[in-house]
Amino acid sequence: MNKKISIAILGSTGSIGKQALDVISKNENLFQVEVLTAHSNSSLLIQQSIKYLPNAVVITNELEYEYVKNALAKYNISVYAGKDALNQVVTFSTIDIVLSSIVGFAGLESTISAIKAGKKIALANKESLVVAGNIIIELSKQYNSPIIPVDSEHSAIFQCLVGENTNNISKIYLTASGGPFRNLTAKELENVTLKDALLHPKWQMGNKITIDSATLMNKGLEAIEAKWLFNIKPEQIEIVVHPESIIHSMVKFTDGSTKAQLSNPDMRIPIQYAFSFPKRINSELNNFDIFANNSLNFEKPNLINFPSLNLAFYAMEKAGNLPCVLNAANEIAVNAFLNNKIKFTDIPKIVEKTLYNFNYIKEPSLSDLIETDNIAREISLKLIK
Ligand code: NDP
Ligand code: MG
Repeated sequence: MNKKISIAILGSTGSIGKQALDVISKNENLFQVEVLTAHSNSSLLIQQSIKYLPNAVVITNELEYEYVKNALAKYNISVYAGKDALNQVVTFSTIDIVLSSIVGFAGLESTISAIKAGKKIALANKESLVVAGNIIIELSKQYNSPIIPVDSEHSAIFQCLVGENTNNISKIYLTASGGPFRNLTAKELENVTLKDALLHPKWQMGNKITIDSATLMNKGLEAIEAKWLFNIKPEQIEIVVHPESIIHSMVKFTDGSTKAQLSNPDMRIPIQYAFSFPKRINSELNNFDIFANNSLNFEKPNLINFPSLNLAFYAMEKAGNLPCVLNAANEIAVNAFLNNKIKFTDIPKIVEKTLYNFNYIKEPSLSDLIETDNIAREISLKLIK
């Protein structure tokens, strides 16, 4: 029997983390759980640990450590707490794949630690590429640590590019569902509620990315993610609103051909692909019916109602530390919206004000980016107050 592939799931209590565990459960002959990590949801982390029996777990919120440690005392599972533990567990020699699925800037350092340990990275945490794409791509080459995208659009592009020369890419069509507010007027957008914004038409996801999908900032972050993953220029990326969410993205080549990847909108498909690449594995997710999906539509995004897209493209083109500023301001603004402190339409305003007044650093180091992130958060918080 072949050795099972051992997987560390960073952020196992989240939407991606839970779906990754489902993929592993359904393929127990191929995959096993080596490490699980969570931030505060200690009870779910405990349940998952008892079910999957990883070698180690990390709870980054240290206040939860005693509770997790005691609950797992009779199992052969090492329990660690804190951010530094996260950076250490990802280097364990027993790990084959690290699924980076912590949300936000908080996922950056552990992703970098896993890359430096030469692990295969299944990358869901798009924010780490947005903030530090240059550094991450360089490190991934230096440490021979392949990055396989989990984000559905980037998995689609990655799949379209298997066997291709990236020099032959003419354009990437990054598809977007358009979110729950696609057909609203600017005036209607002023009054949308948090509850409306959390109702995504096609995907069940964590709160932060669900709000990013409603503002279309998610697509802006994904454009920056694509730029780094596929080494393409901002002008080669076109956002296409495709409300059915069946085509997950497309690549147009210089010879006039365009390739697309289609499936039901189910994140377990790209998660599974990232785990099994370069192979494909048979799965019950193989139930896509083309005749039930015989109407596929495409529109240009509304840049007036959804200014976040232009802000992200501005940051992508200027590069340096500006994508980091964009991301930090967005995390703060989305969090404020999730706590009913600001209106939906205030989110891009806070990002814009933070972004346009920031000290530009052309080639930031990792410590410059950590400082940029801190300062951008402070500025955005002041704007909210
Ligand atoms: P969730 O909010 O559902 O889950 C986030 C996970 O990260 C949880 O396990 C959470 O732990 C953990 N976490 C939160 N804050 C911290 C922190 N400060 N330190 C350590 N761990 C932390 O997010 P999603 O699963 O939706 O998204 C995860 C990533 O994947 C994001 O970058 C997102 O953009 C990307 N992604 C998600 C998709 C989706 O369908 N959900 C699709 C494509 C990309 P706890 O639960 O204990 O708080
Ligand atoms: Mg996506």
